[in-house]
Amino acid sequence: MTFKLEEALKLVDEERIIQLASDVIRIPSITGNEKEVMEYTKKLLEEIGVHVEVHGSEERPIIYACLNQEAEKQIIFNGHLDVVPIAKPDAWSKDPWNPVVEDGKLYGRGASDMKASCAVMIHLLEILKKLDLPISVGVHLVPDEERGAAEGSKILVNKIVAGELWRPDYVIIGEQSNLQVRVAERGMFGFKVKFYGRAAHTAASRTTGINAIAKASKGVLALEHHVDKFHEWIGHPMLSVNLIEAGTVSNQVPAECTITVDRRLIIGETADDVVAEVTADLDKAGEGDPNWSWEIVADKDDEGKWKYTPANFTPPDSELGKAFMKAVPAVLKREPELYVTWAGSTDGRLYRQVGIQTIGFGPIGKYAHGPDEFVYIDSLVKMTKVWVALALELSA
Ligand SMILES: [Zn+2]
Repeated sequence: MTFKLEEALKLVDEERIIQLASDVIRIPSITGNEKEVMEYTKKLLEEIGVHVEVHGSEERPIIYACLNQEAEKQIIFNGHLDVVPIAKPDAWSKDPWNPVVEDGKLYGRGASDMKASCAVMIHLLEILKKLDLPISVGVHLVPDEERGAAEGSKILVNKIVAGELWRPDYVIIGEQSNLQVRVAERGMFGFKVKFYGRAAHTAASRTTGINAIAKASKGVLALEHHVDKFHEWIGHPMLSVNLIEAGTVSNQVPAECTITVDRRLIIGETADDVVAEVTADLDKAGEGDPNWSWEIVADKDDEGKWKYTPANFTPPDSELGKAFMKAVPAVLKREPELYVTWAGSTDGRLYRQVGIQTIGFGPIGKYAHGPDEFVYIDSLVKMTKVWVALALELSA
């Protein structure tokens, strides 16, 4: 493979990457308004001469394109072309819709999350068209990732399950991963904790009243801490108290206070583990308090078990994992690093949930969703090369 890889890597064209990335960034595509950018990428793919299909709705098209429809196996690169809005235009030192290159960085809304990666997927098909590999390589370019994917990747995954769309053997997610091989994503358990007090007139707040807000405050502080667990593919669990509700009127001691907790799970953790952990924290916080009363409230399934989403992963010793373990050192001349220190969930979870091997590998960037978002051009080039090596590896 060595000789072929060297030849193939020469086809990776930095100028072309910058041009394609700038062109797609220049078309505003805030979630809900992706039509124009979708049509633009469709045109680019048609020009390459690959098979192109449009799924989704007329207003929010999804582009599926692939090389070599006759092959037995398929690799799909998934990318979303929607972006989040510009919260504060004044906070940008550049025009978010007019990409510029400065100090090796490409600036613009969607530069790191993730229109530049989508542009590279198009360039990848340009390259692989010339190599004529015995495997199908394609793209799922989707809208709606930033709002839950119901109008994007979920439509494609449902069609795959229904047998209406080619079920890929491998999926690569091009979200920013700092050139690390992201084999796993945290699961999620959302729950509420209700703290109970006793309503009273403010004048009785030190006698008959028990203030539920004060109790909850103690509870929040007891829960808001680093969770000291670690998994080498996924990192630490996360917990954040993200909502609070209490009180009826300004002259009454509140009888109830409810907090909403977002707990992200690592591999091996269950909702029961989290409930045990939260119970221990709150029991400790209430030691010696005769008026300490709370309960955990969350949705349960038909069997009375907590509803939650476990962590999802594709092991490094899967076929796709092994291909990454070879492709990364072949191109970057270093060992693959497995987990991404900070990372939210991606559409990769949807493919994994239906049993498709899925791994994230994307560029290095900064300030996704914020002002002056950028991606390092050098990392886009390295990513492209790893993707080319991966395609060669999986078709060998
Ligand atoms: Zn993203």
